[in-house]
Amino acid sequence: MKMEGEQYRAHVVVLPYPSQGHINPLLQFAKRLASKGLKATLATTRYTVKFVHAPNVGVEPISDGFDEEGFSQAGNEAAFLKSFEERGSRTLSELIEKYSSTDTPVTCVVYDSFFPWALNVAKQHDIFGAAFFTNSITISNIFYRLHSGLLKLPLELHDEALLVPGLPPLNSWDLPSFLQSPGSYPAYLAMKLRQFTNTDKADWTFGNSFEALEYEEAKSISDLWPAKLIGPMVPSTYLDCRIDKDDAYGASLWKPLNFECANWLETKLPKSIVYVSFGSMVSLTAEQTEEIAWGLKESGFPCLWVVRPSELDKLPQGFGELVQEKVMIATWCNQLEVLANQATGCFMTHCGWNSTLEGLSIGIPMIGIPRWADQFTNAKYVEEIWEVGVRAKEDEEGVVRREEVIKSLNEVMRGERSNEIKRNVRKWRELAKEAIGEGGSSDRCINEFVEHLTSHVKGGRQVC
Ligand code: UDP
Repeated sequence: MKMEGEQYRAHVVVLPYPSQGHINPLLQFAKRLASKGLKATLATTRYTVKFVHAPNVGVEPISDGFDEEGFSQAGNEAAFLKSFEERGSRTLSELIEKYSSTDTPVTCVVYDSFFPWALNVAKQHDIFGAAFFTNSITISNIFYRLHSGLLKLPLELHDEALLVPGLPPLNSWDLPSFLQSPGSYPAYLAMKLRQFTNTDKADWTFGNSFEALEYEEAKSISDLWPAKLIGPMVPSTYLDCRIDKDDAYGASLWKPLNFECANWLETKLPKSIVYVSFGSMVSLTAEQTEEIAWGLKESGFPCLWVVRPSELDKLPQGFGELVQEKVMIATWCNQLEVLANQATGCFMTHCGWNSTLEGLSIGIPMIGIPRWADQFTNAKYVEEIWEVGVRAKEDEEGVVRREEVIKSLNEVMRGERSNEIKRNVRKWRELAKEAIGEGGSSDRCINEFVEHLTSHVKGGRQVC
């Protein structure tokens, strides 16, 4: 942290893709840099800027062209990304320009890897540019190979598994959905591949992971894609406690029902409840929602289930009255607080990368119900590689049935494997704390970055 009267040593602008799962880790990185004496500013869209309130981090608006309603105004992914590139480039450039005549000119842009164009903007201003990948290294490893032609679509499977150096064999159901069905979200698939077009020109590449978690996965690609692992980007209170009062990310696109959840949790016994969340983007089918609802009810465990406002009408009719106190439905919560609550015994998750890292960092057994994107691969690691939970199995129609929900809950909460899972969970939590703690592998990478930035100030100032 900067002391009073002291000059900032460098100014980093951090630019996330404007969704909850991207703002959180990039904002956390900004806070971490601020805690090490840099000036950090989060640049985000005019629509999302009002949702960000983080101590020690400035917030500045840029435009994606959809200032009133954000993504939903765009209509589709391709239109959104195209507009963001055009308007985002211009307004990011204006932001850098605005600071150029102040005593805190921007020295580096840390941009979400979804926006390779931001590197061009940084270079036009002769400042540093760093790409930040918000997914696992395993996922980057696969997409890098696809981008560079080392792997080709459709993927060639051996004994039904994809073989990639440094990765365990991945069955077709473990692969990111964009590769299981390349036609499903062509704009996102193209974007995932485009992330790598100019990473060789970026001054740094960061991955939200840590060495112990994905050592082989990172090593096997490091010659081609030398990313620095700086994670887990989870608020400091849950890990190393070196950033004062850093117990939340500082951005929430929905209103969290913190008091209601805390009051409900307070009445529950230690490790007795199941926390269920599918993150900020997954939209379950009505059939899948019903199966989960009845599975949770019939399991008998008290559950706190986050169902976003847009998903509420998929719940079975009268479900709330039927389950009453036993299943609490919240439209949003502070997930970290719930995971860390003494009453929480397991986390039923879609295995978004942030949720996965949060489960590992806080040390909570998980049940994976992946639905799209990288969640399938993360769920495989949860179950088979880190052994911190199970993946609930789908039937031939792709639905996780209520019996499977009950079976998974029993297995993780009290079954034979639960003790082993709990041991592993404790191990990974310690390794996560070690990585981000003083002198840990991630901390060292962040320090190197900070030291480099502060001794090689570009942008019309000192250049060594
Ligand atoms: N989250 C939250 N409250 C909720 C549900 C989710 O704060 O009720 C946060 C969660 O802590 C995580 C993020 O939203 O940091 C979701 O990111 P993730 O990568 O897990 O999934 P995505 O939403 O991108 O699919």
